[in-house]
Amino acid sequence: MARVDAAWAIPMNKRTLFKRFAALLANPIISPLFTWASGNKLTNWAGNIEYGTESLYPAASLQQVQDFVKKRSKLKVLGTRHCFNNIADSTHDFLSLKSMDEVVALDPVARTVTVDAGITYGRLAPYLHSKGFALHNLASLPHISVAGACSTATHGSGKKNGNLATAVSGLQVVTAAGDVVKLSREQDGEAFCGAVVGLGALGVITQITLDVQPTFMMRQYVYENLPFIELKEHFEAIESSAYSVSLFTDWQNQRINEVWIKSRVEDGQVFDATPEFFGAKRATKNLHPIAELSAENCTEQLGVPGPWHERLPHFRMGFTPSAGKELQSEYFVPGQQAVEAILAVERLRNQISPHLLISEIRTIAADNLWLSPCYEQPCVAIHFTWKQDWPAVRKLIPMIEKDLAPFRARPHWGKLFTMSPAHLRSIYKKLPEFVQLSKKYDPQGKFRNEFLNTNIFTS
Ligand SMILES: Cc1cc2nc3c(=O)[nH]c(=O)nc-3n(C[C@H](O)[C@H](O)[C@H](O)COP(=O)(O)OP(=O)(O)OC[C@H]3O[C@@H](n4cnc5c(N)ncnc54)[C@H](O)[C@@H]3O)c2cc1C
Repeated sequence: MARVDAAWAIPMNKRTLFKRFAALLANPIISPLFTWASGNKLTNWAGNIEYGTESLYPAASLQQVQDFVKKRSKLKVLGTRHCFNNIADSTHDFLSLKSMDEVVALDPVARTVTVDAGITYGRLAPYLHSKGFALHNLASLPHISVAGACSTATHGSGKKNGNLATAVSGLQVVTAAGDVVKLSREQDGEAFCGAVVGLGALGVITQITLDVQPTFMMRQYVYENLPFIELKEHFEAIESSAYSVSLFTDWQNQRINEVWIKSRVEDGQVFDATPEFFGAKRATKNLHPIAELSAENCTEQLGVPGPWHERLPHFRMGFTPSAGKELQSEYFVPGQQAVEAILAVERLRNQISPHLLISEIRTIAADNLWLSPCYEQPCVAIHFTWKQDWPAVRKLIPMIEKDLAPFRARPHWGKLFTMSPAHLRSIYKKLPEFVQLSKKYDPQGKFRNEFLNTNIFTS
C-alpha cells in the first residue's frame, strides 16, 4: 500500500514537530516554521536534490508575502518540490505558499477560476468538477502546485491541448520591491506571454486565474505491445485517435509497451475501443506504466467512465505517482519531426535501457508563451523516467541531447538536462526578452538562484 501525504512526504520526528510548533507560537505573524532539524534535510520530492537551506517560511496572506519579500535580499518560492533539478533551490531562504490554497473566485460567465498560488491540481480539480467546470488538461499527476507547474510549462498530452500554462489568463505577482503587480492576457499582451512560464524569476506568484470549461466525462483504455513499425507508419493517426494519447516504451523489442488513450465521453469524440489498435491488444486489467508496479496507484482504465480529473492524470491523488525513487528528463521536438526523433532515441536503446524505468511520448499543441518548449511549434515530448543513478544518467543525457540536437530539442525546465546556456539561448529565441522582463520586476536578482544565473542570466 503506497498511501502518502504526497506534498510533504518527508519523515519528521517528534523533536522536529515540537520545534516547528514552538516556532509558530513564538511568532504567529511569520516565522521559520519549517527550519529543519539536522538529520531531516529538506529535499525535492524525488530526494535527488538536497536543497541549500533548510529554512522554509510559510506565508498565509498577501501581506505576509510582501513583508517577507521586502526584508530579504535573496529567496526562492518552493511549490510542491516536484522538479528534478535545482530550479527551485536556494542557499538563503524559502517561502512556502502551501497554506494559501483556496479558490478565490469562480466566474461562470467569464469561465475563469482564480486561485491562491499554493493550491494543487488535486485540490482544485474536484472543486471545479463539483461546480460543473473543468480544466482543459492535467499532467500525469495531480499532486503538483498550480503555480509551480505553470512556472515550468508542465504539460499533459493531446494534439489540441496546450501545456497547463496556456490556461493561465491572469497572474498576481509580488515583485522584488514587495509591490503587487497584476498581469492579464487581455491587457498585458507580450509581457504576459513572457511572465506565465516564469521559472520563478519574476517574483512570488500569489494568485493565478485559469480558463475553465464545462465539466466533461472521460474513458481511458490501455493497449499493450504496439509494434514500432506501426508507430513509424501511423504516428499521426495514433496520436490523433483521442483527446489525450500517451505512449510508454522501454525501447526494447521494437515496441511501445503501453498506449494510454483518454477520450471524452461526448458525441463525435468517443474512441472506438476495438480489441486491436494498430497491432496492439486492448488490456484486460488496469496497468501501471511501469509494468512491475501496482496499478492501484493509477487512474481507472478499462473504459470505465469518470470525471476528467480522474482520467487525465495517470496517477491518483493520495498515492505515490510514478516510481518515487527516480530521476526524470524530457525533450520537446517539433511535431512534424517526431518519428525521426523517436527513431534517433531508439538507436540508443542499448545504452538507455539498463538505466531506464520507462519512457513516455506525448503531444502538446503550440502556444505563445515565451519560455514554453512549445513556443510557436506543436511538439512531441520524449520523456525518460530513470533509475536513481545520477552517475550513469549524467553520461546518458548528453548522448540523447546530441542525437536530438538536429531537431533543436528543448529540455523540460523542471527535469534534468546538461545543455549549455549558449545552446539554450539558441533554441529559446525569446530568452533575451525574458531576461529584460525579469529585470523589470527583480532588478537586483532577489529571486535568482544558481539554476537561473547559469541557464538564463549568463550573457
Ligand atoms: C512523479 C512526477 C511526475 C511528473 N509528471 C509531469 C508531467 O506529466 N508533465 C510535466 O510537464 N511535468 C511533470 N513533472 C514535473 C513537474 O510537473 C514540474 O517539475 C513542476 O514544475 C512541479 O511543480 P512544483 O510546484 O512541485 O514545483 P517546484 O519544484 O516546487 O518549483 C518549480 C519552480 O516554480 C517556482 N514556483 C513555485 N511556486 C511559485 C510561486 N508561487 N511563485 C513563483 N514561483 C514559484 C519555484 O521557485 C521553481 O522555480 C512530474 C514530476 C514528478 C515528480
